[in-house]
Amino acid sequence: MRFAQVIVDVSAYPVDRPFDYLIPEDWEELIDIGCRVKVPFGPRNVLGFVVGIVAESDVPVEKIKPISEILDLESILTEEMLSLAKWLKHQTICYEIDALQVMLPGALRAKYEKYAVLLGEVPQLPQMLQPYFEKAEKVNLAQFEKANLLKPLKRAVKDGLVNIENEVKQKGQVKQVRKVQIYSREQIEEVIGQMGKRAPKQLALMEWMQDHAGAIVLPEQIYEAVQVTSSVLNSVIEKGAATYIQEEVYRDPFTKEVVKTDFLQLTDEQDKALKKITEAIDEKRQETFLLHGITGSGKTEVYLQAIQRTIADGKEAIVLVPEISLTPQMTERFKSRFGDEVAVMHSGLSVGEKYDEWRKVQQGKVKVVVGARSAVFAPFKNLGLLILDEEHESTYKQEDSPRYHARDVAIWRGNYYNCPVILGSATPALESFARAKKGVYTLLTLSQRAKNQALPTVQIIDMREQLQAGNRSMFSEPLMEALRDRLDKKEQTVLFLNRRGYSSFVLCRDCGTTVQCPNCDISLTYHRYQEKLKCHYCGHDEYIPETCPECLSENIRYFGTGTQKVEEEIHKLFPEARVMRMDVDTTKQKGAHEKMLDAFGRGEADILLGTQMIAKGLDFPNITLVGVLSADTSLHLPDYRAAEKTFQLMTQVSGRAGRHNKLGEVYIQTYTPEHYAIQLSKDQHYTPFYEREMHARHIAGYPPYYYIAIIQVSHEDVMFAAEYAGRVAEYLRSNLSFNVSVIGPTTASIARLQNRYRYQCLIKYKVEPNLIPVLLQLIKLYRSEWIKKGIVLTVDLDPTMI
Ligand code: ADP
Ligand code: ZN
Ligand code: ZN
Repeated sequence: MRFAQVIVDVSAYPVDRPFDYLIPEDWEELIDIGCRVKVPFGPRNVLGFVVGIVAESDVPVEKIKPISEILDLESILTEEMLSLAKWLKHQTICYEIDALQVMLPGALRAKYEKYAVLLGEVPQLPQMLQPYFEKAEKVNLAQFEKANLLKPLKRAVKDGLVNIENEVKQKGQVKQVRKVQIYSREQIEEVIGQMGKRAPKQLALMEWMQDHAGAIVLPEQIYEAVQVTSSVLNSVIEKGAATYIQEEVYRDPFTKEVVKTDFLQLTDEQDKALKKITEAIDEKRQETFLLHGITGSGKTEVYLQAIQRTIADGKEAIVLVPEISLTPQMTERFKSRFGDEVAVMHSGLSVGEKYDEWRKVQQGKVKVVVGARSAVFAPFKNLGLLILDEEHESTYKQEDSPRYHARDVAIWRGNYYNCPVILGSATPALESFARAKKGVYTLLTLSQRAKNQALPTVQIIDMREQLQAGNRSMFSEPLMEALRDRLDKKEQTVLFLNRRGYSSFVLCRDCGTTVQCPNCDISLTYHRYQEKLKCHYCGHDEYIPETCPECLSENIRYFGTGTQKVEEEIHKLFPEARVMRMDVDTTKQKGAHEKMLDAFGRGEADILLGTQMIAKGLDFPNITLVGVLSADTSLHLPDYRAAEKTFQLMTQVSGRAGRHNKLGEVYIQTYTPEHYAIQLSKDQHYTPFYEREMHARHIAGYPPYYYIAIIQVSHEDVMFAAEYAGRVAEYLRSNLSFNVSVIGPTTASIARLQNRYRYQCLIKYKVEPNLIPVLLQLIKLYRSEWIKKGIVLTVDLDPTMI
């Protein structure tokens, strides 16, 4: 008799240990570690993951129930993933089931059909399976289940004759487009040989095709590249230089044709950095590198060549970027270097498309994954390199359970596979730089721009002086002049509106009331697009009231320096300027972001105006001016990282100017020009900033000098929430060491969310080996009693926000 140890998915009342289930004798061959099953749990059947298989159980046999259904014939989680889940559970204090689920693509949580797909030939299959595949190559798994043929099917899977595919039920038809498949050079040569010299357009087209032999392109791309009409293309196709094919429209906006790029000759600094990395690759050793390079120093080229080495070794690489839909240019560079060996995992894909990409990785069809945070779990089995670009970005930390940081997971996997991890940034997170200084990470520095361009000159403009001089516009005189100059020279400008933590409210001019969410203690945000007010936390929306809910005044209106307002002002000041506005409203549609950037790259606008989303990755030769409209907005947030975030943002935005041959200029408008975060970002002086900021953190007792953990308690009843938060504080104080400070309970920064009142306790500590055990004890208490009372308790170690 054999037993499966199963982690069950019971979200209402989470239990956090494996349960033993009997494996029916018939299924012994079918069930592996890492498969999903259905098992009886209480009165229901629930989903579970098999995390172990044993011959003996501590539970009396008569009490053990059998597994009721098999969901996977192949393991979907490797042993590595199962141990990673155990580590995550301990490291972030989450339920093991949450850790297991986070590693899987959404499709494996959604409704889907399973199919057996024939890979080999029908006669190779065992006799009893053959009839099923005679008519179709793809057969619904249910048919084998009914006929009790899962066992032979599984053997066929093991022999590589059949594949099991999950297909998400998707609405709508697959879209197709007509494309041109260009034949080989030799083939085209032959066609040219048979032609006279009388058709210069056709010849020109075929010469172009020879340079793109083997490529599949859209007809429109040909028309644009060679300036020919469809009739010329048709004749060339008739003569046999290419053919039309129908291709499924893959809704990934990044599969547009990319030109293959070659390796660049590295600069000395790049070369030195790469050598250190390849040493670690060659010696199969985990080493974490902090690649600190100023903007434009060519960090990406270092990543690309390190990946090349990894692939050459027969291994795989993961590249993480902060938010993939915002960095199309970056993604393209990986695609153009490694072509089809790259899978892109980004939030713009549908559930089915994401699953397809995941599957490519799992089956080893690709060697490189580029993706956001969750791509750190890409199911490669022979990892050789992990890279986090812009490692300081807060999007690498997940805000729901499991509250993991991609950096930690990357290093864990690096240890598992004995391979290096590269953390890259122009403005590393303070704690990363501190670790590099201590020697925990190896620091690699790129201090020069790759093409030796000068850094842009940065002017800091004191907006208080502007105001005193009578300029009430959001544009200072110098910035206006610079803008006019670029418009004359037909060069491009990027205008950046720093709106981190800044929203557009509807405000009563008479009594100052803002309209609040009825469920949360937070002001509603104005969405001009739909003429509605919305809550970003619970989704509540309503129309704008005509009179103030407090004083009934009619003077209630939209307030805030949104991008639309800036756009209107530019139109007033420079009626001839073509402005492209990029914000949440204009980039809602899939691929919109990339389309706009492409258009800007082609020179279809003079000014690109946007929020945070334009700060990253933008690389166009004609941008020679960057204007920051208000540097201070992120400086005054109630967040100990406010200065760090402002410095990072200013440095990043400035880095968009003058990346190629033309010199760049940057104007930073601010009401606090003397602040060190702004002063030091002027020349990208990271090290002095680091020292200043470390000093400030030391005095205030913040990370990286201290660690922070937040325990939050919420309940619909405010008294309950406060009472239990008080008990938490008491519990922590009496169980943690005396040199650990427990602050609170206090109300959370948003005191009520979705009608639940929230209190929190903050723990500050330097070393506290007891922390995790104490927290686990607390959770035990919570689970055995409090949960029934409707309390929700969450633990966030190393929170990104307080
Ligand atoms: P970073 O990621 O550090 O901001 P990039 O990798 O984007 O910098 O490089 C900036 C520019 O310099 C890009 O246009 C890139 O193609 C170019 N570049 C990088 N390395 C080299 C090199 N060794 N020789 C020439 N150009 C380079
Ligand atoms: Zn009012
Ligand atoms: Zn709300």
